[in-house]
Amino acid sequence: MTHPRSLEPGLLWRARLRLAALSLLVMGTILYAAGFAMGQLLLQAQETAIQRELQTLAGTLHDSLKPALPPAAQPSAALGVVLPGLCVVGEPCTAPDALIRRHAVSATDSDRFQLRVLDHHGALIAHSPGPQPRAAEAEAVQTGLQLVRDRSGARWAAYTIHLHHSNAPGEPTWGYLQISSSLADLDARAERLWWLGHGVFALAMLGMALASWWLAGLAMAPLLEAYRRQVRFSADVAHELRTPLANLLAVVEAERNAVDGAGTSAASTTGTSLDRVLAQGRRLQRLIADLLLLASLERPCPQSLKAVCDLAEITADVMEDFNEAAAAAHVTLEQTIHTASPRVLGIASELSRLVINLLSNAIQHSPAGGRVWLELSRRGGEITLRIRDSGAGIAAGEQARIFDRFTRVDPGRSRQRGGTGLGLAIAQAIARRHGGVITVQSTPGEGSIFSVQLPAAGRRRPARCSACASARRADVADR
Ligand code: ADP
Repeated sequence: MTHPRSLEPGLLWRARLRLAALSLLVMGTILYAAGFAMGQLLLQAQETAIQRELQTLAGTLHDSLKPALPPAAQPSAALGVVLPGLCVVGEPCTAPDALIRRHAVSATDSDRFQLRVLDHHGALIAHSPGPQPRAAEAEAVQTGLQLVRDRSGARWAAYTIHLHHSNAPGEPTWGYLQISSSLADLDARAERLWWLGHGVFALAMLGMALASWWLAGLAMAPLLEAYRRQVRFSADVAHELRTPLANLLAVVEAERNAVDGAGTSAASTTGTSLDRVLAQGRRLQRLIADLLLLASLERPCPQSLKAVCDLAEITADVMEDFNEAAAAAHVTLEQTIHTASPRVLGIASELSRLVINLLSNAIQHSPAGGRVWLELSRRGGEITLRIRDSGAGIAAGEQARIFDRFTRVDPGRSRQRGGTGLGLAIAQAIARRHGGVITVQSTPGEGSIFSVQLPAAGRRRPARCSACASARRADVADR
């Protein structure tokens, strides 16, 4: 991005940051959702594989047990013979876990698989040695897959099928065969996957944040270029108009002086017309000067031009220059300084201009007999300049707009007063150039308060911070 600092830096950085943050949020959400879905699919696939394995094991065991089952589901010596690998309920359990090994090559781990035989009421008859998952004991037994927990809270997948004594049609269920598989491995893998996934996601977010910042810069480059061109264009137009207009006004002024000497009634009519031309020409000159100033305020301010300025001195000078205009408008000016050192690092002529623009607006919008207060205070590292008037105020809907160029709440009245509609835009550009902000609070019918917050300078003595008094007076006269 080309030199973003030169064009309203705060705004541009905020826009770039917003764009980068938004794209990061969108990409991050998509990535997270995709990763989450992938993880779930993976775990689901593994659970399905375990279910299939249990189903196969249960089927195989059932087929091999069926021919040897005793006629009734009673724990007995006969059952012990049929199921030599199981512990029969009510009898000492010394049985090895050989049954599962015998029937399924993959079911060699007794910590992973558990076998339980239940009678047709759901009561446990026999089980394989080792930890028992809590499952359908003496409850209504559900066939099919169930997820249960053992006493330690570990998860098991339990698959239950009916046991039949023979293939005779209509023969009642002998009992149930339940084979369970520990999900401890799967859960451990899921946890590892969770941590790994989140670690990868955090790294990806970091990479995407950098990429988003870079892409936002790329996306904004053409906009910036267009903005720079537009600023340059208005500055060039103003610059090109300035000299011919000055020449034109010089000629008109000379004509006006010549007409003054003639003393005829025709000359007096021409003189009035020339006065109008001169007034309009001077308005144009003010507009051009304001446009050029705004363009210059868009350029970065070299730190070397800044000095520690005492705002109390600047405001006192400006107030003095406005005394006459305020008296003519029957407006009382008051200044209160609540801090001993209202010092800021800046350019005196610009800070003067900031105060001039706000003060002239306050005076112009106050009725005869009104008051304008100027206050300076300090809070921590921040100096606040507040200009309050007892004027007509500004409607809430207009308050955000008045800092835009050429925005006038009452265009007719503003033009009549000679306003260019750029006064507040200039004040805002100066405040930003000094690292500050300008805000307005206003209640229609009661008045307005314009506040400028500027970063306070250190305790160094003021150095080289003086605005050219004649230029300042010319600005006051212009407003
Ligand atoms: P203008 O040259 O018209 O004064 P500004 O940029 O200084 O241009 O102000 C923009 C508009 O904001 C003004 O036209 C006016 O309507 C409104 N405004 C500014 N200051 C005040 C104020 N103190 N009280 C009421 N309205 C104000």
